[in-house]
Amino acid sequence: MTPEEFRVAGHALVDWIADYRERLSRAEFPVQATVKPGDIIRQLPTAPPAGAEAFTAMLDDLDRIVMPGMTHWQHPRFFGYFPSGGSLTSVLGDMVSTAFSSIGLNWQASPALTEVEQVMTDWLRDLLGLPVTFSGVLQDTASAASFVALVSARERANHYGASRAGLQSGAAPLVVYVSEYSHSSIEKAAVLAGFGREHIRALPVDAAYRLDVAALSAAIAADRAAGLQPAAVVATSGTTGVTAFDPIADIAAITQREGLWLHVDAAMGGSAMVLPEYRQLWAGIEAADSIVVNPHKWLSVAFDCSLYLVRDPEHLIRVMSTNPSYLQTAVDREVRNYRDWGIPLGRRFRALKIWFALRDQGTDAIQARLRAHLQWARDLADWIAAAPEWCLVAPLTLQTVVIRHEPTGLRGEALDAHTRAWAQRINDSGAAVLTPTVVAGRWAVRVSIGAEYTRAEHIAELWSFLQAAVATPPLA
Ligand SMILES: *Cc1c(COP(=O)(O)O)cnc(C)c1O
Repeated sequence: MTPEEFRVAGHALVDWIADYRERLSRAEFPVQATVKPGDIIRQLPTAPPAGAEAFTAMLDDLDRIVMPGMTHWQHPRFFGYFPSGGSLTSVLGDMVSTAFSSIGLNWQASPALTEVEQVMTDWLRDLLGLPVTFSGVLQDTASAASFVALVSARERANHYGASRAGLQSGAAPLVVYVSEYSHSSIEKAAVLAGFGREHIRALPVDAAYRLDVAALSAAIAADRAAGLQPAAVVATSGTTGVTAFDPIADIAAITQREGLWLHVDAAMGGSAMVLPEYRQLWAGIEAADSIVVNPHKWLSVAFDCSLYLVRDPEHLIRVMSTNPSYLQTAVDREVRNYRDWGIPLGRRFRALKIWFALRDQGTDAIQARLRAHLQWARDLADWIAAAPEWCLVAPLTLQTVVIRHEPTGLRGEALDAHTRAWAQRINDSGAAVLTPTVVAGRWAVRVSIGAEYTRAEHIAELWSFLQAAVATPPLA
């Protein structure tokens, strides 16, 4: 494709995207894809064409093949999982990054790529109300950032054993502590970082689903007594199930006393910290060794964009750098080489989409948007709490309302079947998407508010769908 051909095709594609978003904002599509497994595969040729095809054929296939297979996360009635940022300005920023297709191997490989990232991670840190003692780097996902955090924790605990005998360096096995409601990515990170499943302590929670600090202290003492070496605590600011915030200050008192790494998984909940009135939820955060927040969730930046913040970048670099001769440059002492702040060598220009998104909206509008989502969540929670047979399964903390419909006499597995059935009726109808989840051993349904096009009317519509969905008698 020549630049001239790109101009024509690109204009057509931008029109396609603008039309799509316009229709989406009017809730024109079913939210959830209705295809069956294999439906898309069957429509695709088994091999690429030998000859060139016209770009218009690709656009046609977007409508014909791809669209029916999409679940629309930007739909105003998408209340599943968590919000996915996707402001159109950030889409444009991402397009520029791809158009450059410059790969940030080191500062020299594209100085702007590094320096814009440095400033954007500072902007985000300040916006979240964090002290300047933190330095940031962009990663693809929280999963990758948390993996890096636990490798860093391991290397601090075993005095950089990776540069000696690796996993075999320490005398005692290292232990990681989490709450039983921590995200699955933490367990995965701990397993991949070599701690071993036997050395992950999934600790109980208090009545508000927050890590039980007394249980943490007791577990650390018991492990020391058994000859193990406690290494890290991962606290969650906004758990996936019920948006619980583990008590960071109390946990930090323990990690500091015991010399453990404290990583805070704030992938979703961290975005709320752009609102000063919510910052008490992670009071004590300045004591964390590392924090991860995903601007691609609730801060309107298009996926993928995960902010990883550390208090001691020297340690991170010591753990992550390899520094072969062909990557060394004369300015290495003056600049950041982000390849040494994470796993990949080659890096995208992710900071552009943050820069675009923040400038297009301004921080006032971002704060106002989050406050609106939080208000709608309170509205929905109020309706649920006041309605007979409906209940809130967990206290409302942010924008995720966790609910159950409990008809009189329905208990145990029958109640679970009823919950899953009405959630599926809504999802299958295409009217809205919700996520069923298990809380304290029983199924419940999460309503996560935060799509860009969602308005108060969509929350009211959802409430009527919910009532209609449970009006159907429970399945026998
Ligand atoms: C979304 C989420 C994750 C995983 O995020 P990825 O960026 O997809 O890896 C981890 N922890 C919490 C608390 C989350 O909300």
